[in-house]
Amino acid sequence: MSGSQLIFKVAERTHVGRVRRINQDDVWHGQTPMGFFYVVADGMGGHAGGEVASNLVVTLLMKRAAKSDPNADPVAIMKDALYRANIEIFRKGALNPELYGMGSTAVAVLIRDSKAYIAHVGDSRIYMLRDDQLHRLTIDHTLVQMLVDSGLMTEDEAEDHPRSHILNSAVGCHPDAVVDILPEPVYLTGGDVLLLCSDGLTGMVDDKYIREVLASDLDPDKMCGFLVDMALKNGGTDNVTVQIIKAIGDRESVRPVPAPRHEPPPPEEVEDTKRYIVGAQEKRPRRMPPWLSVTLGSFGGFALASLIYWLMLRLLF
Ligand code: CA
Repeated sequence: MSGSQLIFKVAERTHVGRVRRINQDDVWHGQTPMGFFYVVADGMGGHAGGEVASNLVVTLLMKRAAKSDPNADPVAIMKDALYRANIEIFRKGALNPELYGMGSTAVAVLIRDSKAYIAHVGDSRIYMLRDDQLHRLTIDHTLVQMLVDSGLMTEDEAEDHPRSHILNSAVGCHPDAVVDILPEPVYLTGGDVLLLCSDGLTGMVDDKYIREVLASDLDPDKMCGFLVDMALKNGGTDNVTVQIIKAIGDRESVRPVPAPRHEPPPPEEVEDTKRYIVGAQEKRPRRMPPWLSVTLGSFGGFALASLIYWLMLRLLF
């Protein structure tokens, strides 16, 4: 049974941070025929590309949801919207030298009938707090996470790894983006708090502090302020974006919070170095030069990709 009389209070904040000159994050929420829709995107690539890519993700998702049927399957719509955005951004990047290689993460929540449907690409995250317990509803699409899934690296080693920002899926960087959908919706009840955020938060602020803030009695706007302020206090080396949704209503007995499913990649996929190296987008501090990316994309044979993979493993370990 799901809470039937919930009201959702939402607040969001985005900050350029203390180091960067441009904010390449984007955030949006609004009502659509299917329900309330919430999106955070973190762009990457080029001088202007990141800003353009994250804005495109938000705009394309918003437009797709706005045109949806009220009874449409939210999962199908979110998947379709993200795959379409992926192709559109990839196409724009391929056709415009100024935007070449641009891409963006995306985390999206659609709430209908007190159920939250969760989708994500990249390393932006969605957390949920219920009964003082913090749940992470997304598993990062990063190279180090892939190594953790494969048993080649521990969670602790991955946590502060200097290469933890290298993505193996993003919207617009590769024709085959991986879109993860939480296997079942979250049945919401009064007191539940959802947080969507870019890695400018999670790279600077640990889960313990996030849990403390979300478990407080503060209203969502103040929660956003505390989280962004802590990210800035701890360095603010990246753009930081947070969006908080709090369910107001009676606390009812509902289904437990589902765990995200992220199957370990099959061995042949781990060996498929071309996909992870050529498709990987380094969000900071360096980007693969376009000429190298083109060379690898066009002529990168197995031997070359294997050599790069070996070198990267040497760097990682
Ligand atoms: Ca970022």
